[in-house]
This record gives sequence, structure tokens and C-alpha cells, in this order.
Amino acid sequence: MSDLTFSCKMCGHCCYGRGGIVLGTKDLPRLLEYFQLDKESLLNKYTENMNDKPCLIVKDDGYCYFFKEGEGCTIHEARPDVCRAWPYFRGNLVDSTSLEMAKEDCPGIIKDVSHAFFAHDGYAYLVENKLLAYNPLVDGRALIVSEDELPPHE
Ligand code: SF4
Ligand code: SF4
Repeated sequence: MSDLTFSCKMCGHCCYGRGGIVLGTKDLPRLLEYFQLDKESLLNKYTENMNDKPCLIVKDDGYCYFFKEGEGCTIHEARPDVCRAWPYFRGNLVDSTSLEMAKEDCPGIIKDVSHAFFAHDGYAYLVENKLLAYNPLVDGRALIVSEDELPPHE
């Protein structure tokens, strides 16, 4: 990631919405350690099943259970990989229309960045931070992408 493609404005918009925060392979162990809970307790307390995958629950206002107005993510050091990866999700890396729509929702994405530059910069970020996922049965599909799916370099 470079600030040529993204610079978070801390608006919290990406923490809004139900079912988007899938707990993948690396997330559960990290959260178990953070909360010092057993797996069943953690899943019962903080997740619901969406398409056979555990997702973080949301509050009545529609924001993630762990989002606090004025403070942001209250579990920042233990947040799931999809939260670490946004806005470099598969859809935005492989599809220019998806990226243009994401720019409407996320003021942190640099508005005039080209799709190819964003995609390769974002992919490098995912690799560098070990955020790529490989198993569609357990991981969020947003993190499953291969380099040959990216648009050609400019
Ligand atoms: S929507 Fe974008 S700018 Fe706003 S908090 Fe999320 S990543 Fe940052
Ligand atoms: S875990 Fe944190 S970063 Fe992720 S959606 Fe919830 S509040 Fe936002």
C-alpha cells in the first residue's frame, strides 16, 4: 500500500453493514488469544453464521459490534484480516467498476488513481502483510485473488 492509492480518513463507513466481516483461517486464533475465550464462547458471543461462515455481529445501528463512534475499532490490534485488507478486496483489484463504486463509499481511496495502479499496489500490500487467503470454504472470498487476475501493468 502506498498513499498514492489509499489514505484512511477514519470515517468508519467500512465498519457498517451486516455479514461482511468473515472470520477466516487466521482470525479465530487471533481473537481467541485477544479475548482469552474458548472457541465456542467467542463464536456464540460475537458472531453469527452467514453462508456457513462465522461473521462478526452488528449492533442495532448497523455498525460492527466493535465499532465505537469517535473511537473507531475497539479491537484494532486483533481485527480480522478483511478489516486489515480493505480497500484491497478481490472485487476492487480485478474489476474497475467495483473500484469506482468503492471510491463512492470509501473517501480514503485516492479518487484519480487508475485501476491498474491500484490493483498492483493493493496486491503488493496483501502479499507483504500476508493477507491473501486461499480456501473459499473457510476464508472470505474478498481475500482470494491471484496475480494473473489483475489488469496489465500500465
Ligand atoms: S471507509 Fe475508507 S476512509 Fe472510511 S474508515 Fe473505512 S477505510 Fe477509512
Ligand atoms: S472489527 Fe474493527 S475494523 Fe473490523 S469492522 Fe469491526 S470495528 Fe471495523
